[in-house]
Amino acid sequence: MNVSTNHVVSPPEPVILAIAGFDPSGGAGIAADLKTFAAHNCYGVAAITALTVQNTQSVSAVYPVETSKLRESIEALFEDGRIAAIKVGMLGDRANAELVKRVLQQKNPIPSVIDPVLRSANGHDLLDPGGVQVLRDGLMGLATLITPNAEEAAALTGLKVENVEDMKLAARKLVEMGARSVVVTGGHLDKAIDVYYDGAGFETFTGDKLKPDNTHGTGCTFSSAIVSNLALGRQLPDAIVLAKVYVTEAIRKAFSTGPGRLPLHHLYRMQQTPRGADHFSALPEPVL
Ligand code: PLP
Repeated sequence: MNVSTNHVVSPPEPVILAIAGFDPSGGAGIAADLKTFAAHNCYGVAAITALTVQNTQSVSAVYPVETSKLRESIEALFEDGRIAAIKVGMLGDRANAELVKRVLQQKNPIPSVIDPVLRSANGHDLLDPGGVQVLRDGLMGLATLITPNAEEAAALTGLKVENVEDMKLAARKLVEMGARSVVVTGGHLDKAIDVYYDGAGFETFTGDKLKPDNTHGTGCTFSSAIVSNLALGRQLPDAIVLAKVYVTEAIRKAFSTGPGRLPLHHLYRMQQTPRGADHFSALPEPVL
């Protein structure tokens, strides 16, 4: 049987570089980033800042990657010359944060989004205190947008962030501290309200608070969806609105892969058959 196909070169998809941590359970970090880029018809490449040990229930260990190895990965990817946008997630430690700061300094004005990941939902630190200082002292000001959740906005500003008014004050302070634009996410509120501020004015985006709400990797997915929209040429805040719609639907379609929190269904747009109790019974019997 001849299975050869004509060589068809598809139109180029924007290439996005994710610089982030690896979550072996696939719900957060690099795995979430790459799936989200693919769902937006973008092509993802990745440099890993840290390995984590985690499953759906908790993060139990974090091993930052040596900075020289992270640098090699980033340099090799840039040698290909096609990076249209950069997403920065978990950094692990100060040395890796310093390296990423130098990279963004060199690569400006490539659009970039920093998700200032500080802690996992079960309270494991994902960035050391020196790294948090690097974020504050210049790194966050190099990105097109930063996307802290309420807890991260509080840690970066020293303010308490418990409601929409607090989120606005924190967003304003982050811009005063050097950020170019900020979206503070409020997934913990009764309504899923996000606050956007770019130094000129505020916009609030309200979404439905969905069940299930015990989801994993929502912040990574949201920031990756925003950077995908930027790579496709969309502007802020439209990129944020589209990302919120995508994340809301990916949460609505989230499914269980273990006894803990649910990963989002990043590729729900590719789903072709209804998922149900008979999903597996529809598969042919295995041949033993
Ligand atoms: N692991 C990695 C590699 C991450 O980047 C993140 C968050 O960005 C997490 C774990 C934590 O995810 P969650 O906030 O859903 O606990």
